[in-house]
Amino acid sequence: MVSILLLNPTVVTMNGENEIIREGFVYIENGKIIDVGSIDKLPYEYKYSDLVLNLKNKVVLPGFVSYHTHLSLFPLRFMGLGLTLSEWEETVAWPYESTLTPEESLYASKLAIYAFIKNGVVAFADMHFNMDSVAKVAKESGLIANLSVAILETGSFSYEKTLKENIELYRKWNGVDNGRINVYLGPCSLRYLSREQLSEIALIAKEENIGVHVHASETLDDVRRTKEKFNKRPIEVLKDYGLLSENTIIAHAVWVTEKEINYIAKSKANVAHCPVSNNILLSGNMPLVDMVSKNVRIGFGTDINPSWDVISEARLAYYTTNTLYGVPSRISPYMLLEMATGNYAKFKGIENHGKIAKGYDANIVVLDFTGIRGWPRTSNIYEAILFSGASIETVIVRGEVIMDSGEVLTINADEIRKAKKTIERKLNKIYGK
Ligand SMILES: [Zn+2]
Repeated sequence: MVSILLLNPTVVTMNGENEIIREGFVYIENGKIIDVGSIDKLPYEYKYSDLVLNLKNKVVLPGFVSYHTHLSLFPLRFMGLGLTLSEWEETVAWPYESTLTPEESLYASKLAIYAFIKNGVVAFADMHFNMDSVAKVAKESGLIANLSVAILETGSFSYEKTLKENIELYRKWNGVDNGRINVYLGPCSLRYLSREQLSEIALIAKEENIGVHVHASETLDDVRRTKEKFNKRPIEVLKDYGLLSENTIIAHAVWVTEKEINYIAKSKANVAHCPVSNNILLSGNMPLVDMVSKNVRIGFGTDINPSWDVISEARLAYYTTNTLYGVPSRISPYMLLEMATGNYAKFKGIENHGKIAKGYDANIVVLDFTGIRGWPRTSNIYEAILFSGASIETVIVRGEVIMDSGEVLTINADEIRKAKKTIERKLNKIYGK
């Protein structure tokens, strides 16, 4: 698609100046936002765009980003509720993962990305196995993907094999499609790696200038086991090994000290806050306000979120902040939306995402507030977006329409049916009917 005109929506710019254009336009060319403004200042020539979407009464804002996912675990997202992380790993995840074929990962990823598109997610950072399959689906889907292999040494997983897979993934997929697909290294979790292994990963990251996606301080058990191996707390270890930088995504960071928060803030590392997963697996609550007050770059990770959407993470972050920190409310819906739409945290592929402003990538979602979900649209539009459940109607990524009026254009319905059958067969084999 060469040029698109979004005509007459309410434009929620997220440009940091609280700017909302009630009857506006957005003009897109070659994947970029070229112009934004009020409808009465619409340049006449924009009306000759290749595609004109009439969006009267609709709302547009930057698409949502999930900073920590495991697409192949989509079928398990509400299995084992109430188990702790290690119980869940042993009884739910590992029996599934240790037998997961590349074909099954491909189909699970199709389902997961389909759900993401329906929920307005335009970019995600995924860490798992069979990532070549995930990369193929990501490429087809049109979404922005940051991929890494979970590198670990435990049970049937070998450090050498997973590291080799990650490097191969990097060689094959990094920078594909004008940088829409990128690859990081994925040291899964410090408790599953030795000092020598972590040193090697750090060396490769440094020499090749590859970013890192890592689980850290997710549970107290993780902190304890990391201390047993490394004699320090997880974030301190990451710092010591040179693995904290603006090219790092730290998933969870629930159990962190003030000193560790300072390290994260200073390094500009990105934190994937996963409140839904943290609550389901009884991991704990991340000290969100303490991190925000130090300007830590935070976004949300959907991890094993049953509804597979970023907005429900933002909502739970609001509720848990209220219970953790009390009155007055310490975080605003606007700030949570900034986190949800990729304004703070960054990874390769979304550097120009997060605002509806000239020069930014055209990664945009269209919301419909006219149904019962979404109604009534209150005077505070940020609250309405966050809490009303307005439906996502259209999704545009780098100037490509990925979903149009609720219909996903890049993954067809037959593929989804086939994917469901394949995965159901697998689940029945492992867990019984
Ligand atoms: Zn995870």
